[in-house]
Amino acid sequence: MIAQPKASHFVNGDWMEDTDGAVIEVIYPATGAVIATLHEATPAVIDAALAGAKAAQGAWAAKKPVERGRILRRAADLIRERGDALARLETLDTGKPLQETLVADWPSGADALEYFGGLAPTVTGETIPLGGDFAYTLREALGVCVGIGAWNYPSQIACWKSAPALAMGNAMVFKPSEVTPLGALELAAIFIEAGLPAGLFNVVQGRGAVGASLVTDARVDKVSLTGSVPTGRKVYAAAAEGIRNVTMELGGKSPLIIFNDADLDSAVGAAMMANFYSAGQVCSNGTRVFVQKGIKAAFLAQLKLRAEKIVLGDPMDMATQMGPLVSAVQVDKVMSYVNGAVTQGAQLVTGGGRDGMFVQPTVFSDVTDDMVLACEEVFGPVMAVLDFVDEDEVVTRANDTDFGLAAGVFTADLARAHRVIGALQAGTCWINTYNLTPVEMPFGGSKLSGVGRENGKAALEYYSQIKSVYVGMGPVDAPY
Ligand code: NDP
Repeated sequence: MIAQPKASHFVNGDWMEDTDGAVIEVIYPATGAVIATLHEATPAVIDAALAGAKAAQGAWAAKKPVERGRILRRAADLIRERGDALARLETLDTGKPLQETLVADWPSGADALEYFGGLAPTVTGETIPLGGDFAYTLREALGVCVGIGAWNYPSQIACWKSAPALAMGNAMVFKPSEVTPLGALELAAIFIEAGLPAGLFNVVQGRGAVGASLVTDARVDKVSLTGSVPTGRKVYAAAAEGIRNVTMELGGKSPLIIFNDADLDSAVGAAMMANFYSAGQVCSNGTRVFVQKGIKAAFLAQLKLRAEKIVLGDPMDMATQMGPLVSAVQVDKVMSYVNGAVTQGAQLVTGGGRDGMFVQPTVFSDVTDDMVLACEEVFGPVMAVLDFVDEDEVVTRANDTDFGLAAGVFTADLARAHRVIGALQAGTCWINTYNLTPVEMPFGGSKLSGVGRENGKAALEYYSQIKSVYVGMGPVDAPY
């Protein structure tokens, strides 16, 4: 299978190649086949992308918001029309099953373009009466934004970042993860087809160093990163040099708390969705599943039965429910956590094995707070089940982490659900469900999990700035 794009980069409205850049081989994780060969962006490519973005941004910001919105909505329509082909490309890029990529990845990206396209013309400032004089505010674009993506939801991330950025009149230079570089290029071509002027959405390929050189360029006004906490620290610090705005969507170790009175079928289903979807490679996953002692046995029994029925296999087969992990590096990392959990005394309920690039859906019970499995982000299909006795105890333990991305609660007692959510330190929470991230709802983390929000009306604030204008209505009263 070959998925070779026309060129490595998309700059200033067109494909661009510079074979001087280091080679990036794109591998289909299910077979190990090289499906495309790209080149990292050279300084010349990076410069062209930033120059193009800078040149195009002003005229774009000056357009009527309704015109900007119309182009974004047209891009959403094109994505939906090509849903099948785009999902196949996403599957080749990531190894995720077609069953998922058809409904989750690009469709969620199209939702973002439609939503922010519709929202663009609704953004207004305020008028502030000052007794004769008055002030008003304008919400203006920031300028050139850099987007840097992780490999787990490459096309969705490109859309989630570009949609609010473009809606507010910014330009973007986007660098996908070098592990999954293909989807963003398609998005760039779709934008041009939808009528986006050249230069407003550029894609440059490369490893961390390319991202780093984008972040420190004087032409850049904002950086939005989806990635790990260590990378977030570096990118945030580099952006701070130029006092640039940032959005940081980083990792998590999120608690999913299941009380005795929870609906068992739903709680088990949600715990599985919170750990096995995308083979567990989801930042907001509920990877610490706290189960109250009264339902522990029933929960684990049903979980084991259902987990063992998950169908692993060819991601292009619609019957396949779980594909390979994204890369051999990731498989090794996940297996080291599995082996470490066994060594530390966690009980293996099911799974624990690998077959090439595939890792079995794995459940550990009797995990304790101090085990590595309960502290570090695994990013694979590995669920840690911890026991708890009462509400105060579980809230304290759930919060005892430096991360704060997400949290979930399952209980039939709604007062308790709201009380517990109120006490949990996390940016994105769910009651009696898990991991649903509709574009209408702000998404992001607290503590080390991030700064800023994607999605929802809130995202517009992170891609714009307020200009305040004081209007003097009478003579100036000067003491000189
Ligand atoms: P990384 O942090 O390794 O990389 C993220 C991106 O940053 C990649 O494009 C990477 O390039 C780039 N990068 C690396 N170093 C630098 C640097 N110094 N300056 C600028 N850019 C740099 O994350 P992964 O790709 O491994 O993705 C997994 C992580 O992402 C997990 O920790 C997960 O929790 C997090 N994540 C968070 C989400 C959220 O919304 N909160 C959503 C999805 C994932 P390259 O890969 O080419 O080296």
